[in-house]
Amino acid sequence: MSFSHRVKKELCGVAYDQPCCAKAECYGMLLGSRTFHKKEIVFKSEHEEIARRFCGLLKEVCGITCRPLAPARTGGFYIVRLNQSFDCLTVLTAFGYTGDEPFLRVNRGNFEDDCCVAAFLRGLFLSCGSMTDPNKEYHFEFSVGKFHLAQDVVTLIGEYLTRPKLTTRKSGYVVYLKESEQIEDMLTYMQAGGSSMALMEVKIVKELRNKVNRATNCETANLTKSLEAGRRHLQAIATLEQLASLDALSPELKEVAQLRRDNPEASLSELGQMLSEPLSRSGVNHRLTKIVEIAAKVKAEKQ
Ligand SMILES: [Zn+2]
Repeated sequence: MSFSHRVKKELCGVAYDQPCCAKAECYGMLLGSRTFHKKEIVFKSEHEEIARRFCGLLKEVCGITCRPLAPARTGGFYIVRLNQSFDCLTVLTAFGYTGDEPFLRVNRGNFEDDCCVAAFLRGLFLSCGSMTDPNKEYHFEFSVGKFHLAQDVVTLIGEYLTRPKLTTRKSGYVVYLKESEQIEDMLTYMQAGGSSMALMEVKIVKELRNKVNRATNCETANLTKSLEAGRRHLQAIATLEQLASLDALSPELKEVAQLRRDNPEASLSELGQMLSEPLSRSGVNHRLTKIVEIAAKVKAEKQ
């Protein structure tokens, strides 16, 4: 099941016991459908459960009986179609429209209280919403057919939650959110609390994985650094042996150089422990750095 479907399933389980909210949710579903005018109203969904919920709401709010057409005849979609002008007008009137408006806008008269805004967004999401699997990307959207309607949706959401962004797509307008926190808030607001939690979990796992990757990268970098230093030390010692002799070094430096040469795998702290007078890691490093300097000098003199 896609994440989008999961959210829709959860929303379909929300009880609409307040008449005001039933009306608002039905309204959201209607505005999200692509055909909503006085000659025809068409509601389309990939999921039977959603189409049935729409029919239930339409019956309760407008007293109209309808049922979804099976997807075999409709290319995979469950379609609810009203094409009797009497039915269409009944629905339009119920939501405060005449059918002659130049632009379809959100009619706030259909919201009695704040609870209705949440119900409206729920209906809108069931009708024209979708979201990407958060494992891939944070993206939540309402795909709205008309410009003024999309603008009204942006404004409405902005009054209750974070103001979403608006963009165009071939098929119309997209009202969308890209921040995981904003999407979490939206899901919770629409009463998809379970999906919101699931999104949070994905985010935590993602952040943890990034942290582990960063730590591993850091360790690899340190390892590479000490391997390079080790190579530099061994090279300097070999240069000294070739061009002069380790006897040219002071006794302390000579001891370190011999140990380094004979134990190429040992760490600096291990070398420190092997010395006749044990030394810290940084002490050993200090002496090796000196050896590198002396080797460079000897090499320069010989050339
Ligand atoms: Zn309400």
